Amino acid sequence: MNALEREIRALIETQGPLEISRYMALCLAHPEYGYYTTRDPFGAGGDFTTAPEISQMFGELVGLWCAEVWRQMGSPARIALVETGPGRGTLMNDALRAAKLMPGFLNAVELHLVETSPVLQERQREVLHAVVPSIRWHGEVNTLPDDAPLIVIGNEFVDALPVDQFEKKAGRWHQRKVGLGADGGFAFGLDPALLPDFEKNFPERLSPAPNGAVFERRALQPITEIVARIGRNGGAALFVDYGHAESGFGDTLQAVRGHDYAEPLETPGEADLTAQVDFEALAALANKNVRAFGPVAQREFLGQLGIAARADTLRRNAKDEMRAEITIALQRLTGPAPGMGELFKALAFAHETLAVLPGFDGAKVSGES
Ligand code: SAH
Repeated sequence: MNALEREIRALIETQGPLEISRYMALCLAHPEYGYYTTRDPFGAGGDFTTAPEISQMFGELVGLWCAEVWRQMGSPARIALVETGPGRGTLMNDALRAAKLMPGFLNAVELHLVETSPVLQERQREVLHAVVPSIRWHGEVNTLPDDAPLIVIGNEFVDALPVDQFEKKAGRWHQRKVGLGADGGFAFGLDPALLPDFEKNFPERLSPAPNGAVFERRALQPITEIVARIGRNGGAALFVDYGHAESGFGDTLQAVRGHDYAEPLETPGEADLTAQVDFEALAALANKNVRAFGPVAQREFLGQLGIAARADTLRRNAKDEMRAEITIALQRLTGPAPGMGELFKALAFAHETLAVLPGFDGAKVSGES
């Protein structure tokens, strides 16, 4: 039994079963034993690989996106460029290199990174210090500047925000919790308390839900806070993640370790723990000052930003053995499963004064008054 397992067990013994969001937050961000607190999980030798780690093309196109949004905003003299959950700093490094092409952009940028993990903060410092000497780190979004327009990017950040799960049994809704099973290990169970009117806030098409339905609700407070700042100060935010375009039912809690699925309740803190993003719930954070664009499939988003042309250029300049790798990377980023092109989606928020954002031509718009 690992140290986090002992600690969670003690918590359950004294306080009763834990909400899944609490369990997830402990596994990912416990100050001593959390998954991200203690390691750099990315890449071939790690647990999983993300889009910016697959190819420089991803970060470059996101960088051009940022620069173009800045230009659409009227090229303000000062802008907070924010990344939530920057991982190894690869995405920001590629983004800044590409965005240099936009005259004046880098001079306007004040770089802010939202990152809870001290190990990853250190990685980010190593990679980005030479490009931007003054980087500010934040453990949470609340300390981000509130006196400048923002451009925010976050890849696979939302999926790590804790979710709670609810289940319908015999016509009534209960919260799912993590308790101790008959064999003494962690087990999911239903809290006996009833949740009256739980379906009231569902989109109409989902009600009445069948028995056995599981509904996931994420703590989106960090995104709500970013949207509020965009409303007050202007700017835009881009989130790319895996998930479903419309709210629905299903248990999507997923643990990944060593590039393979693991049991979410086994070896807490040693596997990545995420759940699919409900993009309908995310888009619903739009309001009369801040519109949401999308979601659009990652294939569509990167396609509109010109990934095919970028891949051609890279291939032309590459040595023979690298050419095939560029083609494979393009396929992984934009192809159907097992590629990321369909399952991964992009959603952006923008101050109402901005026109349609790059990559979102023809996308659904939410929050229009
Ligand atoms: N964007 C990177 C990393 C994605 S993994 C990439 O695409 O490669 C998730 C990242 O979010 C990690 O850097 C993790 O430490 C960070 N993170 C997770 N939950 C967080 C939270 N609540 N606040 C700040 N950072 C968080």
